[in-house]
This record gives sequence, C-alpha cells and structure tokens, in this order.
Amino acid sequence: MAKKVVVNKDVCVGCGVCTTIAPDVLVIGDDGLAEAIADATDEAAVTEAAESCPVQAIEVE
Ligand code: SF4
Repeated sequence: MAKKVVVNKDVCVGCGVCTTIAPDVLVIGDDGLAEAIADATDEAAVTEAAESCPVQAIEVE
C-alpha cells in the first residue's frame, strides 16, 4: 500500500525543492507552502524529496 505523505506547514518555507523532485505527490498550494495531493506511489521519489527538504517538513508514514 502506498505510504501517506504529510507536510508540516508550520516549518515548510515553500522552497519548492520537494515539488520538483516528486511533482505527482507534492505541490505548492495557494498559501505558498507545499502540500501532499496523493499518497506516495513512487516511494523512492517521495523519500528523496523528504530527505532533500531543508527543514525536514515532510513525513512519510
Ligand atoms: Fe516546504 Fe520542504 Fe518542500 Fe521546501 S522542500 S517546499 S520547505 S516541504
């Protein structure tokens, strides 16, 4: 089963790194911060996005 992805908007700075790495799952919302629009079907990409986030705002559960 695909893992759930959660962005902690309290710490996200909207840099866009994660949305470049995993655009099918992470997008920048109207508030300028990242949000997950899907589960992590491509787990490798989402894991890389989480590890690349400068403020560790992405959780893969
Ligand atoms: Fe936010 Fe981290 Fe994504 Fe940058 S990489 S937009 S700080 S969740």
